[in-house]
Amino acid sequence: MPGYEDQSLLSRVHACWDKGRVGRSHEGLVEARRLLIEARRANDLEALAGVNRCIGWFCLQLGFTEDALKAANEARNYYAGVDDNWGHALSLAVYSWALLDVGLSDIGFESAAEATVIAARTDDLALNAFALNCKAIALVMCLEDKLAVALLDEALELANLSGDMSTRALTLVNFGYAKMNQVFRARAEGRRDAESMLAAEAMDFVEQAVEVAREAGDLWNLRVALCNGAELFSFDGNIERAKALLAEWDDLPGVTGPREDIHYIYSKGDVLYRLDRNEEALELYRDALRLADQSALHDHKVNALRRLCEIKAKRGEFEQALSYHRAFHDAYVAQTGEMSRRRAHALDMQLQNDKLREKAAQLEMQAGLDPLTGIPNRRAFDAVFSQLSHQQAVVGILDIDHFKLVNDHYSHLVGDQVLIRVAGLVEAINPAMQIFRIGGEEFALVFAGMSLEHAEPLATLVVNAVRRLDLGDIAKGLQVTVSIGLAESGVLAGTALLAEADRRLYVAKKAGRDRVIADARSSILAVSA
Ligand code: GH3
Ligand code: MG
Ligand code: MG
Repeated sequence: MPGYEDQSLLSRVHACWDKGRVGRSHEGLVEARRLLIEARRANDLEALAGVNRCIGWFCLQLGFTEDALKAANEARNYYAGVDDNWGHALSLAVYSWALLDVGLSDIGFESAAEATVIAARTDDLALNAFALNCKAIALVMCLEDKLAVALLDEALELANLSGDMSTRALTLVNFGYAKMNQVFRARAEGRRDAESMLAAEAMDFVEQAVEVAREAGDLWNLRVALCNGAELFSFDGNIERAKALLAEWDDLPGVTGPREDIHYIYSKGDVLYRLDRNEEALELYRDALRLADQSALHDHKVNALRRLCEIKAKRGEFEQALSYHRAFHDAYVAQTGEMSRRRAHALDMQLQNDKLREKAAQLEMQAGLDPLTGIPNRRAFDAVFSQLSHQQAVVGILDIDHFKLVNDHYSHLVGDQVLIRVAGLVEAINPAMQIFRIGGEEFALVFAGMSLEHAEPLATLVVNAVRRLDLGDIAKGLQVTVSIGLAESGVLAGTALLAEADRRLYVAKKAGRDRVIADARSSILAVSA
């Protein structure tokens, strides 16, 4: 690809993510592992989080579930601490899906629910639809099909509006899957009328899923849709359609993972089983068993053994059926044990994260330092400010102008670098002026023992120095300005003093930013007059 090396790490991470939308997850995974090394070397946290999000998603698609869980967990941890709803919601959605995959539907549901809440803070319709899909799948696993279908309705509407074909395909696949589960249940319960109505709906969704995934070039969703379709049609007795869908699967290009392979083998085994081609079906289920054993996909192992047992019994080979049944039972017991182990592991991972995060936050708080900029934090400010009562002092509130635009135009990472540079610059200007980071891009200034007369020129020095600050090494053409509101102790103290400084900051903003306002009489009316 020409110019590839010139692209920033982050934009390559974005490009890598898109491979998962066209069924090139295998290639994506190889690329992501390379990017991981690069991101580690550069100590680029944002890229690391993005890469882990990719690895989580690709591993999930391919069937390396434990790796998926681990990577998605890393990603969601990073995003929980920064202001990036998009990355946060997406990583939570992938994490929730991985949890569902290992059978932890309850915590999977919680994470998916959190993903939908955070996704709703963005206006990305496809992201919202994706998060809703995860929540719906969790509900299907909890046998709450009706609730799931209601969510999928909403997801489909959003996916259609977004125009994102891959998300549309995914939603249709899941819709079909939820309906299929209803069909199987209706048959098991002997509700024939409901069964045929649901089957018609399910088939419609599956066919649409195939069509949209095909059109989108989304091979992953296409493969899932084809296998689901084959299972559904063979269940319904339409073996020809089932075979046609599997034939399409056979002709698709690209590399598949164990998840897709096992799904295919099952669906094909299902078709052969219903055609009474038991010898071939047996062969396939044995393959599935081998594959499941190799990739530690326990649930598939249990299913394959059950099928093998069924076929042997159907053929009257009871001794072999019994031996498969024993193996099935052992695998089932192992699966239950495996589930407990996974649950413990996932919960432990969650607990460790929370503990570590809490601990880190605690240590930083105790040290009174802001972890990003290294300057004193809000807690340190509160301590200093409370000592100021009834002393001569000036306090200021400094806010970076249009900082949101810096994040939007250059990325959050650049925004962070700007915060570090501005904080460092202001801190070095004059030891008589203390600076604290009290909020995102908001800083407090304390001029102890000073009057406004002396503090104002210092604050003006700050404004001028920031305006002249060369940030070209962070990003070409990047410049920022700050606004400051100053207020003097005396008549005002405590929170009223801060509120006055804040009010003057507001006046500075209204007056055009890049300035100090230290005048009690300045008002918004005066400015706009
Ligand atoms: P104004 O001139 O009126 O202050 O405009 P603004 O864009 O600076 O103000 P606004 O309060 O709308 O935006 C502040 C932005 O600061 C929003 C938030 O994303 C960003 N921000 C807060 N904390 C951090 C941080 O730690 N890192 C980065 N990169 N951005 C942050
Ligand atoms: Mg601002
Ligand atoms: Mg602000």
